[in-house]
Amino acid sequence: MAAKNAAENITMVLYPNDASENGKELRLKQQYFLASASLQDVLERWELHHGMDFSRFAEKNCFQLNDTHPSCAVPELMRLLVDEYGMGWDAAWNITSRTMAYTNHTLLPEALEKWSVRLFGRLLPRLLEIIYEINTRFLTEVARRWPGDNERQARMSLIEEGPEPQVRMAYLAIVGSFSVNGVAQLHSELLQQGLFRDFHELWPGKFNNKTNGVTQRRWLAAANPGLARLITATIGEGWIRQLDELRRLASHADDPAFRSRWREVKRANKVRLAELVKRDCGVSFDPDALFDVQVKRIHEYKRQLLNILHVIHLYIRLKDGRDADWTPRCVLIGGKAAPGYFIAKRIITLACKVAQMINGDHQVAGRLGVAFLPNYRVSAMEIIAPGTDLSEQISTAGKEASGTGNMKFMMNGAATIGTLDGANIEIREEVGDDNFFLFGLTAEQAEATRRHYDPDAVISADADLRGVMELIESGHFNQFEPGLFDPIIKAIRSPHDPWLVAADFHAFAHAQERAAAAYRDRDRWTRMSILNTAASGKFSTDRTMQEYNEGIWKLTPVAPQG
Ligand SMILES: *Cc1c(COP(=O)(O)O)cnc(C)c1O
Repeated sequence: MAAKNAAENITMVLYPNDASENGKELRLKQQYFLASASLQDVLERWELHHGMDFSRFAEKNCFQLNDTHPSCAVPELMRLLVDEYGMGWDAAWNITSRTMAYTNHTLLPEALEKWSVRLFGRLLPRLLEIIYEINTRFLTEVARRWPGDNERQARMSLIEEGPEPQVRMAYLAIVGSFSVNGVAQLHSELLQQGLFRDFHELWPGKFNNKTNGVTQRRWLAAANPGLARLITATIGEGWIRQLDELRRLASHADDPAFRSRWREVKRANKVRLAELVKRDCGVSFDPDALFDVQVKRIHEYKRQLLNILHVIHLYIRLKDGRDADWTPRCVLIGGKAAPGYFIAKRIITLACKVAQMINGDHQVAGRLGVAFLPNYRVSAMEIIAPGTDLSEQISTAGKEASGTGNMKFMMNGAATIGTLDGANIEIREEVGDDNFFLFGLTAEQAEATRRHYDPDAVISADADLRGVMELIESGHFNQFEPGLFDPIIKAIRSPHDPWLVAADFHAFAHAQERAAAAYRDRDRWTRMSILNTAASGKFSTDRTMQEYNEGIWKLTPVAPQG
């Protein structure tokens, strides 16, 4: 029973963290188990058809490492070929380094997986030996290229030295792979100039970009049957397999009859979303208001805080009677926080308290509504994206690798308010600046701002932001729970706030005003909505997969059946 339980434990839970929270023994066991099982399955089937002839193995197989989570596959394939199949090191390395390809998913250094050498050696001693051998040979190559540059050797080593030496899994994946890609243009550039700069200098040809996509079969055809029917009635059903065909909707964007049908579909989807919000949050949303939505994992770099600060700003404006030309707005924030991520949990608390205060205030009723949606998940997103007017993609520039929520919203006819980050940049390129609410520092400006950042000065100089901070600091949202939001206040006011929340507030509030004004012009907004869907063709996973195949896998495409 003990052995059976121990075995079952390995895959009993899926780790819920999208970034950071490292070092758990069970996680490493899980990663090794799944990587090894996959490789053994492939090798067994190869042997069945080709016996011990591995001469064409590399040509016929490719392992796409989806982040560093399966990167044990590099030393494990070496172990299987050398120890189990009796191959020499050089032949085995030739096969391994011609079959592995690595996709990086994050620029946050704290999210890069590292395992302590101690834990790794206790659990996987043979793999650690193999990693040391890979490292010795690799560092010899580095030394040949840059003789005497010991600092660079230490920087690039697969082992990070220190009181508790660590195995750098991303570096292991790069050294073991023939292809390394990021998931949006900016992200791939920043990888090459920043995080993996040394490796790019050594092997520039390894690096490439594959911008993410989402599948229109789930995110448009299945999730939004109303819009799918209207699109098919207008341009035929070609878009289901060839998303570029959505382009043909653009010529209908100025047709009043088409606009009116488009608006009816969006309204019905907003009613459906309002029902979800009522059921899961107990808050009533008016389907005629602007539906302003931010749903994604809760993380400081995604800046749910910036969104909440803006909501408080709108609340203050209403209370002060600064409400000329008001656009009624319903703000939905949703997402899960990793269990151990304290400040993310506290951001959720703030969102809930602000929502409670605003929704309970009869003076603002009908003009501003706020809800925090718990248990955000794919089945919820299938209702949320079709019912959204304004998609919040407001990460600190340079931090969101790609984003895919941004693509689901665009496909469903939402306009984006966003920074120049991840795939937002490509979304804006496709849809045009007139149909995208851009704000904020660029990745380069953000980097420069961090060197002399003074949030207290920013707050003092901006009456709107000052008002927001003073209201939070007065304890207005935490009566009877003194100090509840002190950690948040401290984070925003810290000169070391890496996310630059205060720095982007003014530009964000201004972009929000532009969006509100655009929404008041119903025809202009509907046109913008149509043009967003029409320009979303690039963001199909079909295009992404085709690029992976042409650049990396080299499979012969098979025509779809039926
Ligand atoms: C699309 C999606 C995400 C990713 O959203 P981002 O805004 O790109 O971070 C996360 N969770 C769920 C449930 C999703 O559907």
